[in-house]
Amino acid sequence: MTTSIEIKRVEKSNISSVDFDNLPFGSVYSDHMLTCDFVNGKWQSPKIEPFAPISLMPSAKIFHYGQSIFEGMKAYKDKDENIMLFRPEENWKRLNKSAKRLVIPEIPEDIFMDGLKALLELDSDWIPTNEGSSLYIRPFMFATGNGFHASPADAYKFVVCTAPSGAYFGGKVKVLIEENYARAANGGVGFAKAGGNYAAQFYPTQLAIEKGYNQVIWTDDNTHEYIEEAGAMNIFVRINDTLLTSPTSDRILDGVTRKSILQIAEDNGIKTEVRKISVTEVVEAAKNGNLKEMFGAGTAAVISPIAGFGYKEDDFDLPVLENPYASQLKKLITDIQTNKTEDPYGWRVMI
Ligand SMILES: *Cc1c(COP(=O)(O)O)cnc(C)c1O
Repeated sequence: MTTSIEIKRVEKSNISSVDFDNLPFGSVYSDHMLTCDFVNGKWQSPKIEPFAPISLMPSAKIFHYGQSIFEGMKAYKDKDENIMLFRPEENWKRLNKSAKRLVIPEIPEDIFMDGLKALLELDSDWIPTNEGSSLYIRPFMFATGNGFHASPADAYKFVVCTAPSGAYFGGKVKVLIEENYARAANGGVGFAKAGGNYAAQFYPTQLAIEKGYNQVIWTDDNTHEYIEEAGAMNIFVRINDTLLTSPTSDRILDGVTRKSILQIAEDNGIKTEVRKISVTEVVEAAKNGNLKEMFGAGTAAVISPIAGFGYKEDDFDLPVLENPYASQLKKLITDIQTNKTEDPYGWRVMI
């Protein structure tokens, strides 16, 4: 390790209060967090300190102008207590892509990687080993600099917190294809993991929930004729035996899970197509029985199968398949992530 990290440990670990057999998603936090400040034009030395409130002035620009970005990753521990990450470089690169778009200074690779490794080693007991569980990792950066002037801040904070988490939501997920609202627009920040993108999704999602759905399928902002993402996940649609997903763009986030699934599918004999997917073709396929599956893909849930969708006045159920692509692909990817199989891609990173 090259980066020097000052470590201040908790006086007493909180781990004994946690029920590892009944973990929620993302609401129980490990003992420590990594922090690093950007002040006077440069990133200072990273620190590891107890997970605790962060103090800011009311004039901090994060509160007023929303310079705030994040990442989502997971750490896994295998039977032999090896700790591993999945394609962490991709998260570091994407955090900096988001940073650039929001005029937040980019975080150097060594602070991100060495800091994360040190944090995971210190809190390694927090990495669950139960099937489907993992340590969810939330790196984020935000403006701490002050002023009511609408301009980028002069100071920022990079933080990494972790949360031991059980398997993500199950149950029957019903989605609503959106006709009015959009999560992203050309030239906007949809490709970035900017906090504001998610704030903007909550209201349309709440309306969908009131109508009896669980989640929104986002369509393009211009015509609402093409499906783009499933909530905060990338979307896959299986028509007959072909797996389709929308191309990434200004509006569609370049998910690590999405591109890993595309690769794994291709290498396991599943035909894939990356192209625009029209609402009309999905509705048609649902009507004539060619629509076999829809699922969301993202780090938190890995793959989240969709049981049915609503569009305008109609509701459509998806068939219940024997061995759906969703289950096949979820197993293939999680076996790589958790060291249950060979990793021909070099995606797994041991710590
Ligand atoms: C994070 C995210 C995804 C999934 O990205 P992963 O790298 O697979 O976790 C997809 N869409 C949106 C809008 C996201 O925020």
